[in-house]
Amino acid sequence: MLKIEHIDVFYGEIQILSDISLQIHQREIVTVIGANSAGKSTLLKSIAGIIKPKKGRIEFQGKDITGANDHEIVERGLVRVPEGRKLFCSMTVLENLELGALKGNARAKRKESIEMVFELFPKLKDRKKQLAGTLSGGEQQMVAIGRGLMSLPKLLMFDEPSLGLAPLVVKEVFEAIKRINESGTTILLVEQNVNYALTCSARGLVLERGKVVLEGTAESLLDDDRVRKAYMGI
Ligand code: ATP
Repeated sequence: MLKIEHIDVFYGEIQILSDISLQIHQREIVTVIGANSAGKSTLLKSIAGIIKPKKGRIEFQGKDITGANDHEIVERGLVRVPEGRKLFCSMTVLENLELGALKGNARAKRKESIEMVFELFPKLKDRKKQLAGTLSGGEQQMVAIGRGLMSLPKLLMFDEPSLGLAPLVVKEVFEAIKRINESGTTILLVEQNVNYALTCSARGLVLERGKVVLEGTAESLLDDDRVRKAYMGI
């Protein structure tokens, strides 16, 4: 479904990603692990069309999207839930959700999509008129995920969805991600909560200083001493 071939990404003169290749098949969950500054967010931003790779190619559902703009990529069904949620705090839950469905097919289907989001996160239905800035961290993450779903993603990318959340809420967020996947959406997950992320993934890869240093099935990574020591503290 998504095929990344040998991309190099720079911020100005500084190379952040080197020769990254990755494939994601339809309905898979794939996780990218890596320490702070490894380049995980940069990878997702490159796929989302926010940063253009200097070299290499990105293909989504058989179409070359390298260099396509971010709006076009969202309309194709490749959607990112950003790190830190990035909500509009002085707007209501409903208004924030609607921002995910401003154009095209997503706009036409926004009423059904809102019902689907409320079914996934019933708490948001009770709080739909509440200002997003007054929600708990977990509820804000639900709104960010819901806004992503409003764009009718075929592939949904999550940038550290568990960041700053209490353990019980983290569990809830991962359960929601699994349900989204079961309903047919392919998932690319960037996470520091390696245990949770790999447990619900088919495959994973480890990024270090902008390079893929390890990849394999989620099971093999969970068993790998290097992963256990560096990312799980075992
Ligand atoms: P974290 O878990 O801390 O978010 P990450 O793996 O997602 O880390 P990135 O955010 O992709 O890492 O950052 C990779 C490198 O790129 C870092 O060294 C960072 O300082 C640098 N960087 C990120 N954004 C920019 C930018 N807009 N301009 C210049 N350098 C940047």
